[in-house]
Amino acid sequence: MKNLKVVDHPLIQHKLTELRKVSTPTNHFRTLLREISLLLAYEITSSLPMKMKTIETPLEKMNSPTLSGKKLALISILRAGNGLLDGVLDLIPSARVGYVGLYRDEKTLRPVQYYFKVPSDLKDRIVIAVDPMLATGHSASEAIELLKKAGAKNIRFLCLLAAPEGVEILSNQHPDVPIVTAALDRQLNDIGYILPGLGDAGDRMYGTK
Ligand code: URA
Repeated sequence: MKNLKVVDHPLIQHKLTELRKVSTPTNHFRTLLREISLLLAYEITSSLPMKMKTIETPLEKMNSPTLSGKKLALISILRAGNGLLDGVLDLIPSARVGYVGLYRDEKTLRPVQYYFKVPSDLKDRIVIAVDPMLATGHSASEAIELLKKAGAKNIRFLCLLAAPEGVEILSNQHPDVPIVTAALDRQLNDIGYILPGLGDAGDRMYGTK
């Protein structure tokens, strides 16, 4: 799984344990997810291109590193993607934002598109697609396919939990897309949920069940 980076930072792992618990209420779930997404954003942006810039401190001039100015786009895969999006956007407030709406057909487990709105200049941007759960990998692959069709050339995928099945599908179909996650779980169950997982991320985030 050479495309995969599991971020095993103690703060992330501690917060993830709290978040997974069935007893964690909706408001605390959202707070934890936002905190974890900030920490994951730190990792997924760790290879952003840099340039040197001459600045003046109160004492002297110096050459100091700064982001090269390569533009970013954050793409939320609806609806659960919004739970990761907010924290990442806190860290990179100048990023443009897009949305891909896919729902999962409960019988086939395949993604069906219902919404697509992304920045028009995706080809010039570093694109970070976010979705908390990389489960079957079908939605993530389909979303990335749509982003490539819209011109994106430099794409990363950020999730909270990944299943081995989803990582395999995504990396086979899009070997150019690095995946960053907080944990690689054991497997999928027969209706496509991640085990041990955390349940339905959207429902837990918004209290819809
Ligand atoms: N989506 C979820 O929200 N949870 C899973 O376990 C799998 C997909």
